[in-house]
Amino acid sequence: MAERIVIALECPGCKRRNYHFARGKKKEYKLALNKFCSQCRKYAVHKEVKAN
Ligand SMILES: [Zn+2]
Repeated sequence: MAERIVIALECPGCKRRNYHFARGKKKEYKLALNKFCSQCRKYAVHKEVKAN
């Protein structure tokens, strides 16, 4: 429980958090994934932000 953090992937254009998931705390690198944003209606590189 303590080792889990919830992260979100934030669109760089509209700052909307389109994707949420939990992961272990050990990984230090930041995720950056090319995901579709329904707000911008296009693909953009969403960056990881903390959600909790
Ligand atoms: Zn967007």
